[in-house]
Amino acid sequence: MTEASGALVLFSGGQDSTACLAWALDRHARVETVGFDYGQRHGVEMQARQVVRAAITARFPQWADRLGEDHVIDIRGFGAVADTALTSERAFELSEKGLPNTYVPGRNLVFLTYAAALADRRGLAALVGGMCETDFSGYPDCRREAIDALEAALNLGMAQTFTIETPLMRLTKADTWALAKGLGGEALVAITVEDSHTCYRGERDARHPWGYGCGICPACELRARGWEGWVAQGRPALRP
Ligand code: ZN
Repeated sequence: MTEASGALVLFSGGQDSTACLAWALDRHARVETVGFDYGQRHGVEMQARQVVRAAITARFPQWADRLGEDHVIDIRGFGAVADTALTSERAFELSEKGLPNTYVPGRNLVFLTYAAALADRRGLAALVGGMCETDFSGYPDCRREAIDALEAALNLGMAQTFTIETPLMRLTKADTWALAKGLGGEALVAITVEDSHTCYRGERDARHPWGYGCGICPACELRARGWEGWVAQGRPALRP
């Protein structure tokens, strides 16, 4: 191992970042997590982070030894600037660019820049994020091209050799369920269903086969569609 090793996972407590956390625990000897408080409308996401971490620690002893500190960074100033459906009570709708108004301009760039500063301080070499350009809404900062450019900028600007790892980049939402099964079997699928939180509305009253949520917001729709696709394929396991 080189001087800096280990990974910092951008961990929101959702389905995608739960898969990313397992992926990182599978390949890195030391893993820490970071979450961002940007004034989300609901505290549900922040609670889900701790529940998922605890469930993984309890169920996977080999990963528990590798899972280190959790960090939460307050970036509510950014949330105020970006002001969209995620942080205010506006209705869900499409903007003139065809992006859902849950899109927060440059959010991943901001997350990764904060994460890089933290990783520098923590001596962690890899940043792991759930950015995916396959079947989401084409958020421009989810594209690998944008991530590559940021990786170069961070390394130049911080005199570092970070790698930004995006294990979900080319996966469909059905593949992400298959990846969870490949990494942690049905136990990790169960943790993802029961404990991870994706719903934009913060609802956890209704339990669907794919987990808790309102069932109608774009995040729930996407998660449900991915689940149904995976089940239709016979619940395959995908090894990274
Ligand atoms: Zn929902």
